[in-house]
Amino acid sequence: MSNKEQTYIMVKPDGVQRGLVGEIIARFEKRGFKLVAMKLVHATTEHLEKHYADLKGKPFFPGLIKYMASGPVVAMVWEGLDAVKTGRVMLGATNPLASAPGTIRGDYALAVGRNICHGSDAVDSAQKEIALWFPEGLVQYSNTLEGWVFE
Ligand code: ADP
Repeated sequence: MSNKEQTYIMVKPDGVQRGLVGEIIARFEKRGFKLVAMKLVHATTEHLEKHYADLKGKPFFPGLIKYMASGPVVAMVWEGLDAVKTGRVMLGATNPLASAPGTIRGDYALAVGRNICHGSDAVDSAQKEIALWFPEGLVQYSNTLEGWVFE
C-alpha cells in the first residue's frame, strides 16, 4: 500500500461526555482504517499545553486548555491510506458551523470551542502528537481485512 500513514485522532471531553466515542470510532472503523492505539486519559494542563504549543498566544488558548482538561479524552492512532488528510475530512472544518453535514463536526457540533474531536493536520504533526500521547508505542498486529480494503 502506498501512502500508508498514521494519524492521531482524539475524542475531546465534550465528545466523551456526550456519548459520541462509539460513533467516532465506528466511522474510522467502517471507513477501513486500522486502530493501532487507544486509551482513555484525563490529561494534565502541562500535557495539553505541549499538544497545543503552536496555538500559545492565541486569545482562545487559556479557554482551550481549560476545556481540554475538563474531563477525559479518548486518544487514538488510526492507520491507513492517506490517514492524515482523510481523517481531517472526516472530522470536518474546525468551526462546526462551516463543517459539511456528513462530517463528524458537521453532524454533532455547533461551536468552535466545543467541536468534539481532534485530528492531526499534517504528517509531521501526526508523528509529534503520536509520540506525545503514546510514548509507550503502538500495538502491532495483522489485520486480515487489509486485502479487502486496499489494492
Ligand atoms: P483544528 O482542531 O481543526 O486543527 P486549530 O488547530 O486551529 O484547529 O485549533 C485547535 C482547537 O482550538 C480547535 O479544534 C478548537 O477546539 C479550538 N479553537 C480554534 N479556534 C477557536 C476559536 N476562535 N475560539 C475558541 N476555540 C477555538
